[in-house]
Amino acid sequence: MNPLSKSTPIYIGRFAPSPTGPLHLGSLYTALASFLDARHHQGKWLVRIDDVDIPRNAPGAADLILKTLEAFGLHWDETIYYESRHFNHYESALARLKALNLLYPCTCSRKKLADYAQHHGGGDRYPGICRDKNFHEQNDYAVRIRTNGAFIEFIDRLQGRFSENLNAAHGDFIIKRKDHLFAYQLAVVVDDQAQGVTHIVRGIDLLDSTSKQIFLQMLLGYPLPSYMHLPILVDQKGQKLSKQTYAQAVDQRNPGPVLFHLLQLLKQAPPEELIDALPQEILQWGISHWNPAPLQSWTQLCPSNGFVGLN
Ligand code: GLU
Ligand code: ZN
Repeated sequence: MNPLSKSTPIYIGRFAPSPTGPLHLGSLYTALASFLDARHHQGKWLVRIDDVDIPRNAPGAADLILKTLEAFGLHWDETIYYESRHFNHYESALARLKALNLLYPCTCSRKKLADYAQHHGGGDRYPGICRDKNFHEQNDYAVRIRTNGAFIEFIDRLQGRFSENLNAAHGDFIIKRKDHLFAYQLAVVVDDQAQGVTHIVRGIDLLDSTSKQIFLQMLLGYPLPSYMHLPILVDQKGQKLSKQTYAQAVDQRNPGPVLFHLLQLLKQAPPEELIDALPQEILQWGISHWNPAPLQSWTQLCPSNGFVGLN
């Protein structure tokens, strides 16, 4: 299946930001961890712009993100991959799943699903209301995939064994939205396959999506990547650092100390004198000493007040 030849490196990692705003500290932290993990394993490190959700893209954000990565010395391999240039890949994956008779059109509105959950319980799990609908009888619909009997199990490098009955936990999920855009779950597996990604390092907030993605990888006959889900950065109130909460861009005027403190947050214990070193030296130290094991006992990390990377 994999078109890559014998010379394929054993490790291809990636950082896949959504260009909804400038890079904030939480994303820089994820970028750094995936970079260090890739370089420590003599792997490639790719950057992909996850811009499939077109209405959420902020003008200029992709370029700003790339400039910030460069300012921090996080240099990537190969050319940048933009999801929005690969819609044809998603279309063919969708056609393959459709040929397996696993897809159906869902016309439920958000309100309908909320009302249903209020009366019948079940929370966010899709209750299968549209399972018997046919594509040719509908015109305004999202595309869902049947998850019957899918029991997914994988070992996360940090979080350990994770197993889930996909249908019981999530129900049938959306792979193409009503607005005709491909859903993140489908796009991410198709992209990771297209880029030959072998190792995924990302925030623990995406752990919940992983079984859906493994399910799709198995159906499409893709090799399964290895996963490592990192604790996420939170503010003093325990809210995830994100564009929504800490909207500010990371301060890139003085990258060395920011990298140093990020290494500390990643529990890498860099020696004190490294704080005054050049970004390249700090990264070099981080690459050769990289050991994610101390992150195992954490799901959240909170940068101290006045953290240098926050403006
Ligand atoms: N684009 C996603 C995000 O910014 C990350 C996708 C992934 O790492 O799988 O949250
Ligand atoms: Zn429905």
